[in-house]
Formats: sequence, C-alpha cells, structure tokens
Amino acid sequence: MTNITKTMSDDKTYIANTYARFPIEITRGRGCLLFGSDGKKYIDMGSGIGVNIFGAADSKWRAAVKKQLDKIQHTSNLYYTKPGVRLAETLCEKTGFKKVFFCNSGAEANEGAIKAARKYAAERKGTEYSTIITLKNSFHGRTITTLAATGQDCFHEHFQPLTQGFVYTPANDAEAMKEAVRNNKLAAIMIECIQGEGGVVPLDSDFVKEIADTAKKNDILLIVDEVQTGNGRTGKLYSYMNYGIEPDIVTTAKGLGGGLPIGAILFGEKTADVLGKGDHGSTFGGNPAVCAGALSVLKRLDEKFLAEVKKKGEYIFSELKNADGVLNVCGKGLMIGIETEKPPREVIDECIENGVLCLSAKNKVRLLPPLNIPEKYLKQAVKVIKNACKK
Ligand SMILES: *Cc1c(COP(=O)(O)O)cnc(C)c1O
Repeated sequence: MTNITKTMSDDKTYIANTYARFPIEITRGRGCLLFGSDGKKYIDMGSGIGVNIFGAADSKWRAAVKKQLDKIQHTSNLYYTKPGVRLAETLCEKTGFKKVFFCNSGAEANEGAIKAARKYAAERKGTEYSTIITLKNSFHGRTITTLAATGQDCFHEHFQPLTQGFVYTPANDAEAMKEAVRNNKLAAIMIECIQGEGGVVPLDSDFVKEIADTAKKNDILLIVDEVQTGNGRTGKLYSYMNYGIEPDIVTTAKGLGGGLPIGAILFGEKTADVLGKGDHGSTFGGNPAVCAGALSVLKRLDEKFLAEVKKKGEYIFSELKNADGVLNVCGKGLMIGIETEKPPREVIDECIENGVLCLSAKNKVRLLPPLNIPEKYLKQAVKVIKNACKK
C-alpha cells in the first residue's frame, strides 16, 4: 500500500465517516502552497475553509503561538491571562464593540449569541420573547440549536426535535421579514451578510439596512454571523462594515485564530452586560496560545492589508466574470462563488489535477484563499480555474 491508501483505509476504519474527503493527504504547507504525501504541490484556494488567513505555517503567527507555548499552554478560566485580554481589547478597539466572550468554534459562538439574545429579551420584554428570525438558505452551525437556526431543511433531517423558537424568511425579501417581525414575539434577527455555505449569496444592501432599522425600532437584537465573512475576508474587517449598520452582537470564528480553534462573540452597548457570572462558560475558551496567535493575525488586518484583499478579489472577479463556461461570479473580497456550466465537482477535480485546491458551496465553486496570497500564485490559480471552467 502506498502512504495515502493506508491513511485512507485507517481513516475509514477509525474516524466516524462524516466527511467526503478528497484523496489527498496534506503533510505540510508554506503560505498558500500545500504539499501532498505524494510530493505534489498545490496552490491553496480554500485555506482550510477560510481559516488559515495568513496561509500555512505563517512565520509571525507561529512565533506568537510558540512564544506563548513556551510559557504555558492553558490555564482554564479560573485565572487571568494576558493574551485573551489583549485580543478582546484589540477586537473592541477595531470594531467599537464593548465586550467579548471567547469559545472554540463558530457554532459555539452562535450558541452563546442565542443565549445572550434570549436572556436580554426575557429580562426586557418577558420570557415569551424568545423567537429568533434567521434566513432561508443560511448556515449557523451543527449543534442542535445552531442547526435549528440554520434555514436549510436538508440539515434538519434525522435530528428532530431541534431547539424551538426559530422562524425562517427568504434572503432579500424585506416584506416577508417585516411580516415575521409582526407575527412573532422576537428576541433577535440573525443573518450572514454573505451566505457562505448557502452558495456565497450576498444580501442586498437595502435589505440589510431595512433589517437593521426594523430591529432597532422594535428593540430586537441584530446578530450578524461573521464566522466565515469576518476577519478581513470581504475586504473589511467584518462584513457588516460594508453595509454601514451597527449589529448588537457579532459572532466570529474560522479565520480569527489563523489556524487554531477559536470563536468569539462581540457584544455591543445593549448586550455587553447581559451575560453575567455563571451564565456561560467554556473550558478552552480564551486559551492563551490560541489567543496569542489570533492577536498576531488580527493586528495585521489593517486598512492597507484590507485594501489589498479587495484588490485581489476584484482581480478574480474581472478574470472570471466573462470567462468561458462561467455563468456567474458572486461574493465580495476573497470570498467568491463561481457558478459554472459544468457541475462544480468536475471543475474542482480538474483544478486538483492541475495543482489548485478549491472549495464548493451548494451549486458553486467557492474560493476562500489565504488573504495574503501572493499575486504570482493568485494569477497561476486563476488561470487553472479558468481553464477548468471551460466546457
Ligand atoms: C462555518 C460556519 C459556522 C460553523 O462554524 P464551526 O466552527 O464549524 O462550528 C457557523 N456559521 C457560519 C456562517 C459558518 O460559515
């Protein structure tokens, strides 16, 4: 057996078979380049689903994590540590949010946001104000409650009963949203500004503004799920900043840790003190090694860097927009969905053949490259993708 065949069969034997993996075993990486166990080199246009925002084994990020590992790797939340405090402070300074709760994943960040929203509404309006509107085609995670928040029936199958108190309205339909606001006793409205797993579907700016207005007028909290869109991905630090709105709660994860697991809930003015002692917690949350790495990546997401992200995104758009076999390109910054004439899987397989790793989302090829991908490799990857899209 070759190396990968053994890994694949052991994976099948010992790891719960929840993933449809590609037959590639990644052994190491440098920046936007990943290396397979067969010695093959790939340009990474997925960054571990938007996680490795400075690519593989980035030296500054590694140095920050290592420095902390040499001191202590974990303390629990019974004691104070600096990296978490500094990271929270930096998040607040860069966004204007007031307080941060750290957890370990996107689903957990959304769980915490939902808890906070329900407590806020219960205290102000009564416990019956517990319903949360989310959008059809959304994705908010895989725990029982975040599955309930996820507006896609296909994820709900097999796992009933889910947490109660979620209603779904179609993206970009302001009338349906307002009707749901009238007909329900609401705690919150939760949205992704670009529906990532749903196929990189951006919300219209009018729709987002209307939601924000309606929420404000009715003292309903607006939660923006920035798990995928956050941390520079769309060319702004957080995607809500593209819309000129002020959410009450923002959740994020994926790219924030630069490759280690972290989730964060950002609380605004109204919600900063909703969760009190004992209301919520996480054993690993705010882990100092993870936070030290996150702080090092967050500090580098300045205006100059974000302008580069925007520019690279525009380059991909302009190259692919009218390309042969491409029906549509959507998204923002370096979060891009490509609708192709061929089935996306065929395009992705052809890209793999030619040394480029892409993602999919619903019926689209999805690109979430490392935000610092050098122009040279971006050009190479786009060329391969363009060729693969051709009928
Ligand atoms: C990935 C994702 C999640 C879930 O994050 P996990 O870290 O896998 O729990 C939630 N919301 C959005 C928008 C996502 O893209």
